[in-house]
Amino acid sequence: MQALADDLDARLDGHAIARFEVAAFSALKTFDPPPTALHGLLVDSVQRHGKFLDIEASGVHLVMHLARGGWVRWREQIPPKPLRPGKGPLAARVVLDDDSGFDVTEAGTQKRLALYVVDSVEKVPGIARLGPDPLSEEFTLERLRAILAEAGRTQLKGTLRDQSVIAGIGNAYSDEVLHAAKMSPYKSSSSLDDGDVDVLYAAIRDVLGDAIARSHGIAASELKAEKKIGLRVHGRAGEECPVCGDTIREVSFADRAMQYCPTCQTGGKPLADRRMSRLLK
Ligand SMILES: [Zn+2]
Repeated sequence: MQALADDLDARLDGHAIARFEVAAFSALKTFDPPPTALHGLLVDSVQRHGKFLDIEASGVHLVMHLARGGWVRWREQIPPKPLRPGKGPLAARVVLDDDSGFDVTEAGTQKRLALYVVDSVEKVPGIARLGPDPLSEEFTLERLRAILAEAGRTQLKGTLRDQSVIAGIGNAYSDEVLHAAKMSPYKSSSSLDDGDVDVLYAAIRDVLGDAIARSHGIAASELKAEKKIGLRVHGRAGEECPVCGDTIREVSFADRAMQYCPTCQTGGKPLADRRMSRLLK
């Protein structure tokens, strides 16, 4: 399940949802917001919460409980014909802005697949509570200090993207926050001193606040380009850091990558990459 979430996260990163179509209406457990609320929204992250997959797109979540017979099948090219309600295994389909996407299927007759479209994943029965929204009043400097202490030696990058710790910072914005704070993604969470916590707190508020301000009043079709313009390091390996001019580097994990600036964040030293280095195209 984690592998599926990671795989989808990498594939959906930077894409907007063009359409979400439901064929098995009994699988859709929510009606407000409507499934069409996802249309045109940029995907921020794909997370796993226990047995649930959570695709978060600009504040709207498509949550899937695949149960035993449920699965997700990736498709490079989705046929243009709209999905027809039927009795086959095909339950729903997500089409992205480049016509790739995935089918959600359920084999067998059990029909336990459950889909939810919600503005907060806490509205899905059975999902554990999320961490605070970083732009809410609840997310104070003291709260961040406590979160970091609690996270112990977990690397900062991992703490920032853990939805049960802080909700709503995905892969892209965790790169941006760390660059703005001039901190290494590998830094251990509890090693930050009071001054560091101040800096990180300001970076989280600034980066996410700017992202939201920029997305207001922009047509859905232009959101993807706008998000890319707003990102300083994420997805920009090989380009110049807008702050210091150094070359932005990349470290890749299983099937995702993070980007950072060595001069701004790691004392000029490139981070170790256990896989073959694929910096600098
Ligand atoms: Zn830099």
